[in-house]
Amino acid sequence: MKRKIFKWTIRISVVAVLLLGLLVAIVLKPSLMYANKTLLGNFTVYHDKPLDKELKLRLDNATEILKTSQFYDVNIKFDICMNDGSLYPSLLQVFLGRAFALGFTSNKVALCGTVNIKDNYVQVNDCRWNLTQLLAHEETHCFVFNKFGFWKSNPIAHQPLWKWEGYPEYVSRRASDQIDLAKNIERLNEVIRKNKDEWGISFADSTLSSREYFHYRLLIQYCLDIKKMTYENLLKDTTSEQTTTTQMMNWFTTQKIN
Ligand SMILES: [Zn+2]
Repeated sequence: MKRKIFKWTIRISVVAVLLLGLLVAIVLKPSLMYANKTLLGNFTVYHDKPLDKELKLRLDNATEILKTSQFYDVNIKFDICMNDGSLYPSLLQVFLGRAFALGFTSNKVALCGTVNIKDNYVQVNDCRWNLTQLLAHEETHCFVFNKFGFWKSNPIAHQPLWKWEGYPEYVSRRASDQIDLAKNIERLNEVIRKNKDEWGISFADSTLSSREYFHYRLLIQYCLDIKKMTYENLLKDTTSEQTTTTQMMNWFTTQKIN
């Protein structure tokens, strides 16, 4: 009996390893799950339906934003996976959770919500995320992965979420109504004052950010712009999210007085 159990354990383990290998192969090779592939400059776009011509403009605008990041690397050739029929984005979300989009490895971005290229947004439920900024956010994850490597990146490295998600938000949110830190803090305070359970922060183009990500972004903006830390130093630093928030709010108070 013991021998039988041992045999079955081995068989099940082999099948599990094979299935995992197959899954990893599919995730790393999106062409297996898409009907079409189109080259747009540095980007290989995987899609099932005809592409909107304006996608090139969105990708180029995201690249312009990304040039402000210290980790920008012109040599990275991105795979952009559309959500227009393929099961690829749904497959990713089974493992990585529901998302507007996902950026993973050093060069893969999958759009997961409903994409409207012409009006420049990605929608999940009733919430719209600016498409250009979303591309810049996910590509930033790839640049950071490229810089720090698999073992020092999330989910393996367990970097605090406020640092891991705040940096792509810091890089990508570059519209004129998003760049002033004091005004951003004021906006966040105002939203909390009106409704402490409010999920999102709206921007001038009617898209939004989750309040959580907006807060993360402000913390990164404070650490990098005001405390003059580098992102590498910030990842090594042990100051907590709570303490950094307190420091930022103290700074904000002095800004209001002056
Ligand atoms: Zn992210």
